[in-house]
Amino acid sequence: MANYYNENTILYLNGDYVKASEAKTDFFGQSLHYGYSVFEGIRSYKIDTGETGIFKAAAHFERLKASAVAMNMPYPFDIDALIEATYFVLEQNNLQDAYIRPLVYAPANMSFNQNTESYIMIAAWEMQPFLGDKLLKVMTSSFERPNPKGFKITAKAAGHYVNSILASQEAKAKGFDEALLNDMNGFVAEGPGANVFFEKDGTLFTPSPGNILPGITRATLLEICDELKIPVEEKLFTTEELKQADAAFYCGTAAEIIGWESLDGVTFKKCWNETVSKQIQDAYKRKTIGLPTVVEPGLLQD
Ligand code: PMP
Repeated sequence: MANYYNENTILYLNGDYVKASEAKTDFFGQSLHYGYSVFEGIRSYKIDTGETGIFKAAAHFERLKASAVAMNMPYPFDIDALIEATYFVLEQNNLQDAYIRPLVYAPANMSFNQNTESYIMIAAWEMQPFLGDKLLKVMTSSFERPNPKGFKITAKAAGHYVNSILASQEAKAKGFDEALLNDMNGFVAEGPGANVFFEKDGTLFTPSPGNILPGITRATLLEICDELKIPVEEKLFTTEELKQADAAFYCGTAAEIIGWESLDGVTFKKCWNETVSKQIQDAYKRKTIGLPTVVEPGLLQD
């Protein structure tokens, strides 16, 4: 279990910086009882200049706002001020390579009525890649992703993650590392907390938007493919097609990029280190620390 805080940890809470061990919330709100809150998962890195850089900070805080708006939660917060507060939290906690968790939550109100205010908390801690650094054994879940007709699935709303927890726990109980969820039409959607790509004959494929959380990492990888001139296509596909792939991987802020060993026991054909996906993994690492994705031949360190 990650170490989230100790007695010295500072977090940002509604305009103040407070000790995590002393921060308070109440037990009478929709967020805790009904999963009615929105959040973000962001990473900061020690960038090549030695400074701390929050990767895609504006995109994450804009999505936080979009998630709150989608959930009818008031959002009176200024994005630049929140980014500044986040840098301050990192500094106060002596963190450079960190995972950052802003959470917008509801005040005391146990009805289903809309609130007139929202609260915000921003915490940060050190976190290794969420799904580890070894190729994953993935299992097609018996759970489907939430139906977009029942949920605002492009919002990062806390309640949606009950589905993620069920799927991930099911996969682990069956001896796999992680689950893969289909959408309600039987097409591959995403993981419990990451988007999926597969590689076939040098081209990358990822599910089209519609039934997925369109991840910021996913968008970054589409940019990287463009920069590296790697063909990439968004389309709907099934697990049967995915099992014929040369390689596959999960991508997300917390997981970064992590290759798959197998899906439902079917091993992917190519050795990870020889895939285009591995080149993308390396390029992503470089981008997060402020280096260009394209490396001149001969300059590669590893
Ligand atoms: N899908 C789901 C369900 C997620 O929880 C996440 C993590 N936020 C992602 C995809 C990847 O999104 P991002 O790259 O923006 O972290």
